[in-house]
Amino acid sequence: MQKEYVFYDTVGIDFPLDEAIELVKSPCHGDFLVSNDPEAEAIIYAPEINFYLQHSRDSIANKISTITKLYAIRALGFDFAQDMDYAQEVGNKVLIVTDDESLEALKAELRDEDFTVMLLSPSTILDVNGHIGSLHVTLKKEDELLELECDQIIWWNAPLFAMKQSGVYDPALLGLEGALKKLRDNKGEYHYKNFINYDPSICQYHERRTEICGKCAEVCPTVAILKEDETKHLAFSHIDCHGCGGCVSVCPSGALDYTQMPRIAFAHLSESFKGATALIIPNKMDLGLIDIPLREGVLPLMIEGEKYLHEAHLLNLLQTSGNPIIFYTDFISKGTGDVIRIINEIFEKKYHKKAIYVCEDSADLARIFESMESFPECMYGINEDGLRKREIFSARLSHLVDGEDLGVVKTGEHVHYGDIIIDESKCTLCLSCVGACNVRALTAHPEDNSLRFNASICTNCGYCEVTCPEKDCLSVIKDEMRLKPSWFSQRIMAKDELFTCIECGTPFATVKAVEKIAAIMTPLFGNDAVKLRTLYCCAACKPKVMFQAHMDNENKGLNL
Ligand code: SF4
Ligand code: SF4
Repeated sequence: MQKEYVFYDTVGIDFPLDEAIELVKSPCHGDFLVSNDPEAEAIIYAPEINFYLQHSRDSIANKISTITKLYAIRALGFDFAQDMDYAQEVGNKVLIVTDDESLEALKAELRDEDFTVMLLSPSTILDVNGHIGSLHVTLKKEDELLELECDQIIWWNAPLFAMKQSGVYDPALLGLEGALKKLRDNKGEYHYKNFINYDPSICQYHERRTEICGKCAEVCPTVAILKEDETKHLAFSHIDCHGCGGCVSVCPSGALDYTQMPRIAFAHLSESFKGATALIIPNKMDLGLIDIPLREGVLPLMIEGEKYLHEAHLLNLLQTSGNPIIFYTDFISKGTGDVIRIINEIFEKKYHKKAIYVCEDSADLARIFESMESFPECMYGINEDGLRKREIFSARLSHLVDGEDLGVVKTGEHVHYGDIIIDESKCTLCLSCVGACNVRALTAHPEDNSLRFNASICTNCGYCEVTCPEKDCLSVIKDEMRLKPSWFSQRIMAKDELFTCIECGTPFATVKAVEKIAAIMTPLFGNDAVKLRTLYCCAACKPKVMFQAHMDNENKGLNL
């Protein structure tokens, strides 16, 4: 039977590999899923396998099992991936934006390759929108505004607004050859994927009356997420998304998930790190630059989008491994950066140890290997199936806090946790706030007529505060994580008795709600005894009382 994994042995390894791995001694083409070398063709090339082999200090037995794990991690990512393939036609119209008049030769070269080339000075261009294969350029010529269509653009030192569009390449960043290679590769058909999955039902922007979120659009470096303010809908342009995952790390509710490594895949993947230290390395980093031995038990974890990791991912990995995480990267996203600080503060309070290290060179990495310490006491597992991001983090963090009071951790500029206060004397239990909260932090409990709140699930969005009809009744406490048991439990915020209809005895509202309406309406009804009585009747009895009074008056001839 064809094996899924292939290992191209270029050095002559002196120990056996797991039988799931086909060992080859020369370049090969096959129907393989994962390979350790590009010369052994497979759908996925996993450079971390050779990197681990060359640098690890693990025993041979551990190496054999770890290599199998590294193959399996890649296969798992592939099996769970939720991306889809799309293609966009890309024609041959290229716009070159430069003031350098010596580029006529480049123009001629591209024309020879069947490109239609236009040259413009950057000072004439006012705006660029659209996407690769369909770019619209607005330009000013003398006093006239003109529109120009092209498929791709080469622009030296392009401004940010242009670089946000797909299909715009800057030779100052990529080198001229790099930019030209992009043009040539894209011509004909441009292939792209959806990197982001979106669940509008828990989005804190979707169809809200006021804007209380939109963090994903704020951090998106391209124009892949747009807010349609009229409808409060998010529009995703997958062709413009380059898959960094920055939006996933700041999304407070978990409405966004990374298709290349969905949350549930990550939960399965972390099982491979039990007792090991995860060395997370974004795919774009050059493994060749890490030239130090890996400490025993250190396993590389290559990730596609360098910015998508959030608190639920990282705490899962920490609690599954019982070891710190090392993030080897030259860029940390706003969301991941906030979360690393928050988790480090929590681990410092609880274990007096550092949980997550960030470094970008071998010297730093070597120092971390010297100083890092395990914390097996933090190990904990939960079934994350069907749980949302906040629910996962809450369950895990609650176990870590374990009945103690570890004080307060301030949350960040991009990751918000908090609390709310409800003035029970003003709350009528109308439950508007429960309707406003789409992440189940506020819930209604008919068994005891209570309104309850779980702070650890709350996204601190503030929508309940703007929805509450009572003045100064509900207020949100911003950016505080209170690490004690009550922060993780459902606290009763308000509670009341049910009022029973004075006609039929059916409970129909809370005592406070009836009293409040009665207080407002009594002065308006004056001494009309029938109307006053209806204030204490259920919806079914109200009209009956009114009609009965009308009939009685009719019979008495009083309705004339
Ligand atoms: S960050 Fe998440 S919750 Fe906020 S608007 Fe974007 S998708 Fe919605
Ligand atoms: S409880 Fe209020 S602040 Fe918290 S998520 Fe729900 S609506 Fe937002």
